[in-house]
Amino acid sequence: MSILSSWFKKTLIRFNRPKLSKNPQLVPGENNTSSRNSGSKNPESQTNARSKPVSSESNNTNEPKISNESSKKANSSYSDVRDSLPRHATKKYKIRALSIINMIVVHCTDADWTIEQLAEYDVNPNHISKTGCPACTYQDVIMPDGHLYHCVAYKERTWHAGKWNRRSVAVALMYTATNAKKGRPNYRPPEKAVKRLTRHLTSLCLGLKVLPKGIRGHRELEDTGWVWKLVSGDSNKKRKSLLKWCPGQYVNMDEVRIAVARRLQFRLKLDGYYKGGLDGIFGPKSTEALYAWEPKNDVLR
Ligand SMILES: [Zn+2]
Repeated sequence: MSILSSWFKKTLIRFNRPKLSKNPQLVPGENNTSSRNSGSKNPESQTNARSKPVSSESNNTNEPKISNESSKKANSSYSDVRDSLPRHATKKYKIRALSIINMIVVHCTDADWTIEQLAEYDVNPNHISKTGCPACTYQDVIMPDGHLYHCVAYKERTWHAGKWNRRSVAVALMYTATNAKKGRPNYRPPEKAVKRLTRHLTSLCLGLKVLPKGIRGHRELEDTGWVWKLVSGDSNKKRKSLLKWCPGQYVNMDEVRIAVARRLQFRLKLDGYYKGGLDGIFGPKSTEALYAWEPKNDVLR
């Protein structure tokens, strides 16, 4: 690639890239769904992250390398169904700037449905809204065989995690998690789906500038996953209680975060932004590299 065309491509891409300025603190948005939330206390806060991204270093003269995240392999099992899935006749999700997104919430749909069935469920009266949701409640859904459906644009604020909706996007694994006989969510997600999840979360972190610690399982969120319940017989004591297993008790979110952090470090190193080891610990150097990184391929579709 000539220097000129490389410059031109970079300039074009820069024009479209999401804004860097982010507040990495996890701040909940206002409620969308009245039924899901009760009065809330402070959400878990993460305060040690930097608030200002560094300016990108300009001495990166490496030619773009083939991305391991947004390669043909990923394309082959991807469908953009934003325009073909059922939507609510009148309701619409609120639109937001991509730059405010600092969380990716991982869910599961504990069912053996097609993507159309899932969208039908969401737009009709359901457990979230008596009159139906505007569209599918997840931006992305990963099927048991690892196929990814992109259902709703990231700029749309879907209704998936109550007060956490405003600054998050939702990625769901579709698989049978509950053993009907035992009534417990004790099936493991298919390996192909988990692998795809890790790969896709890496792309989302790159494209939306979300840190690995911003990846949360639904059950890890206060008020929608876990709640504070009064201890019976003691009006002053409350205990932390789990409302949901989502995305399934065998999805180890710590492992997911570490795997994504490693992949991010690998990619950032490949592109010349990161010099450290691939240890899965996403410290200040990795964070700086992620904020400085500029897309050379489409990581977000
Ligand atoms: Zn969930």
